[in-house]
Amino acid sequence: MRRPLRRATAAIRTAFEATAPPEEFGPSRLVKRLEEVLETPRDQWPPSALRALWEPLRDAAPHRLKSQRHESRWLNLAGFCLRPGTGFPLDETRMSIGVVMHADQAKKVGLPPEQMLPWAIERCPAVKERMAAAVYPDSSTGYHVLADFSYRCSPYAGPGYFLVGDAAVFVDPIFSTGVCMGMMSATEAARGISALLRGTSSPEKVRRRYIRFVGGSSSALFGLIDRYYRHSFRELFLSGAGPLQVYEATLALLAGYVFPRPPFAVRWRVKLLDFFAFINRFVPLAKRREHFSLLE
Ligand SMILES: Cc1cc2nc3c(=O)[nH]c(=O)nc-3n(C[C@H](O)[C@H](O)[C@H](O)COP(=O)(O)OP(=O)(O)OC[C@H]3O[C@@H](n4cnc5c(N)ncnc54)[C@H](O)[C@@H]3O)c2cc1C
Repeated sequence: MRRPLRRATAAIRTAFEATAPPEEFGPSRLVKRLEEVLETPRDQWPPSALRALWEPLRDAAPHRLKSQRHESRWLNLAGFCLRPGTGFPLDETRMSIGVVMHADQAKKVGLPPEQMLPWAIERCPAVKERMAAAVYPDSSTGYHVLADFSYRCSPYAGPGYFLVGDAAVFVDPIFSTGVCMGMMSATEAARGISALLRGTSSPEKVRRRYIRFVGGSSSALFGLIDRYYRHSFRELFLSGAGPLQVYEATLALLAGYVFPRPPFAVRWRVKLLDFFAFINRFVPLAKRREHFSLLE
């Protein structure tokens, strides 16, 4: 896969960075072109390839503003490469796997923590099938149980400290936002410290700005994750379409348009999508998907 991946990377660069590439190599045909060079239809691209394709895409981010076609292809492909629901292998034989539940629901199951993961897998046919030949780790050492999987440790700054990365917030990694949050909060803390050292701002101002930065950006991501766990919203989100670019607005959040807070154009579209999700509960606006619960 290494050589095809190199060619795929080159195809992404050409589509976004070249000045006026022929139609064949431009953004409109990019997904087809990637299918050709990877010799695999896009719904079969493995997680390792998806994550590898994200890197040149991320680097091409500034070029997406060249035209609406560039922007919509970029957002669409970014969402596809970063989409949740695929496992990522640690190496050729091991994979990290877990289950996230609300604490009150986990209590209802009434099993000891180390039995929760096998219990959940047993009740989830798609995962059970993929795990059929798996060897599980030693039950006393192989499982990590965490309460508070997502958390906020506010205030994020105070006299003598800035909390960055996971020390400030931990956002459920379903959308892979943690490293981005970590880097952006570190950059913002460094900017504030530099302003303090140069004497161009006061500690109160720097702290206030930092707290707003971490709070505003993480709230947008928490909000999206909260929505994703609601069936009606998920049906709309997974349909990958919607009027007035509401779907693109969710991708914009995932693509990092949250610092220091999402722009108005994204915020109202996400609110509109909430409204559609409400309607979709009663009148189908997207393909119905079977409701699935581990507890039933
Ligand atoms: C299951 C899971 C899957 C995830 N998937 C993704 C993903 O796909 N994409 C994504 O972007 N993010 C993901 N994340 C989130 C991401 O890993 C974190 O948000 C990110 O690593 C946070 O970086 P950090 O530097 O703040 O903290 P860390 O990466 O935790 O770094 C903190 C470091 O400090 C060290 N340390 C702790 N205490 C001390 C001490 N007293 N002295 C010295 N060193 C110390 C620790 O050993 C650690 O190396 C995932 C997280 C989990 C749990």
